[in-house]
Amino acid sequence: MTGIATGRALRPTAKVLPEHARGHNRSLVLQTLYSALGAEVGAGLSRADVARETGLTRVTVSDLVAELIDEGLVVETGPREDARPGKPATLIAVDRDAFQIVGVDLADHATFRGALLALDGEIIRRAELPLAGPDGVTATGDAAVAILDALVAELVGAADRPILGIGVGSPGVVGPTGVVLAAPNLGWHGLPLREHLAERFALPVVVANDANVAVLAEHGLGGGDADMLLVTIGHGVGAGLVVGGMAINGSRSAAGEIGHVVVGTDGGPDCACGRQGCLEAWLAVPRLRAALAEAPDEAARSAVLTAAGQRLGIALAPVVGALDLAEVVLTGPEDLVDGALITATADTLRARTLAEFHGHVQLRRSDLGQDIVTRGAAVMVLSARLGVS
Ligand SMILES: [Zn+2]
Repeated sequence: MTGIATGRALRPTAKVLPEHARGHNRSLVLQTLYSALGAEVGAGLSRADVARETGLTRVTVSDLVAELIDEGLVVETGPREDARPGKPATLIAVDRDAFQIVGVDLADHATFRGALLALDGEIIRRAELPLAGPDGVTATGDAAVAILDALVAELVGAADRPILGIGVGSPGVVGPTGVVLAAPNLGWHGLPLREHLAERFALPVVVANDANVAVLAEHGLGGGDADMLLVTIGHGVGAGLVVGGMAINGSRSAAGEIGHVVVGTDGGPDCACGRQGCLEAWLAVPRLRAALAEAPDEAARSAVLTAAGQRLGIALAPVVGALDLAEVVLTGPEDLVDGALITATADTLRARTLAEFHGHVQLRRSDLGQDIVTRGAAVMVLSARLGVS
């Protein structure tokens, strides 16, 4: 199994014709049931509801539902309680406990985090391991892989249901086959991480860039739009894109790598890459914290955050304009992102795009908090294994 392929819809939305019809229709039925999951306790859909929502015939739906029940993915939850005359319809729902998923977040520069999740994305158990050993040295290369192995082993060991798969959000550029092409902070270059974990744990594994994983969480679980950009503000700055409901990876798997895009033509702070005025030099958390520490008063602090927000707005405006995005979501520390920074980003974005087309763009901070990559990794497994999100 590979990562989320470029150009593949995250969710099936319509009927297709013969060759791939059965698998597609199965995903369509499962997605319809999955979308209804957790709406309310005791809820569920009847087979007739599913036929209506998917446009499939009742015979096809009954046939596919029988298959899904045989596999344990779908269960009958009882008769519909309503006042309609006649025999009440039997409701069906995805069994959230049919499988569990391991989601792993390697985005933090000091700690690897992971969780065991139910099929509906609820976190059952969390685990984390520091990258620094007792000697205070931060693990890189094979030592960092060993820490990841230990974290995954703990979560796999804690599962009390079959595991659907392991999803990993890694920093750096990740190729479509789950090879980490370059994650400099971890000392990983050309590391076949998906293959390594799949062999070690004998489970399906999906690996993708952390920001690309985070945008899947926002799209799948956080109420995100079908055309959205998510910007991660952390040790570095990255972005993930969903356009027309599809995850975008780019020609070299580096879509969303905006951290070292130079913003403006007026220079700017020195960047670790050797140039001046990269987005990361304005916006990365360590840079912001350092600038804020030097600010003498509240007005100066606000000016630091406003400048960072403006630079982000300048970088995003052409992207929003070119792709006609509906929504831009920021993740990062609340005390930095909320307030002057996000206000300046919104103002700059509006000033630099056409109000007629882009005035409706929503800009907000993600509500998914620290679990966003872990949960996005689970969405990635759901999409790859079941065709739902
Ligand atoms: Zn740079």
